Amino acid sequence: MSDQRRAAADVVASVRNVTKIYRLGGHDVRALDGLSIEFRRGDFVAIMGSSGSGKSTLLNLLGCLDRPTAGQYVLGGYDVAQLDDESLSRVRGRYLGFVFQSYNLIQQLSVVENIAVPLAYQRPVRPGGQELCVRLATLVGLAGRLDHRPTQLSGGQQQRVAIARALVNNPHVILADEPTGNLDTATSREIMDLLAALNEAGRTIVMVTHEPDIAARAKRVISLRDGKIASDERQ
Ligand code: ADP
Ligand code: MG
Repeated sequence: MSDQRRAAADVVASVRNVTKIYRLGGHDVRALDGLSIEFRRGDFVAIMGSSGSGKSTLLNLLGCLDRPTAGQYVLGGYDVAQLDDESLSRVRGRYLGFVFQSYNLIQQLSVVENIAVPLAYQRPVRPGGQELCVRLATLVGLAGRLDHRPTQLSGGQQQRVAIARALVNNPHVILADEPTGNLDTATSREIMDLLAALNEAGRTIVMVTHEPDIAARAKRVISLRDGKIASDERQ
């Protein structure tokens, strides 16, 4: 394989000249403005920028939760705009895991049951799902909390459940929106240790944060300003 072909095969997600315009009460808000980025296998990216710079819009687009007004998004070789709903949810399930600032756990379910939630959308149903969820709970340090409900856990423990849930379909990329935004400094460090370990094991991570010390744990920092890339640096 040529160096060029190998580099292309390494791209897990690619945003090409993307613009996102929100129409709001008769006037347009240009949240993303002709933005292009490639994310490579094994990347650990922090997306930074002041409030309103387009971070969440970009993450929603990467997560196929929203569509661009113009431009192209290619995920795992698929042009997302060309996929019907069923193909899109299959590609999303295979390529993406999500972690949110507010954990988004289901209060009535145990740790293991919460981790299993994305499996319910997979067809055919994967055998050995229960063991997989227990293994992931153990991986994130919750082996002693398998039957606990979210209200019986600390914030850091709840975020660990959310990370295990994001891993359950073995996605290529984890998308995280302010994953430490609700956590104290020591707990934030533990969660970043966990994300760094997952990245060391080969997982691609794209995380939004506005905290410089959290971004410092990433290997690549992209700063947005007015829906454009202000800087893109590997560290
Ligand atoms: P950030 O996450 O960096 O704070 P956002 O991506 O949320 O920025 O927002 C970028 C811009 O788009 C802001 O000006 C914001 O007000 C606007 N915006 C975001 N979502 C919407 C929406 N659903 N409708 C209208 N405007 C929006
Ligand atoms: Mg935001």
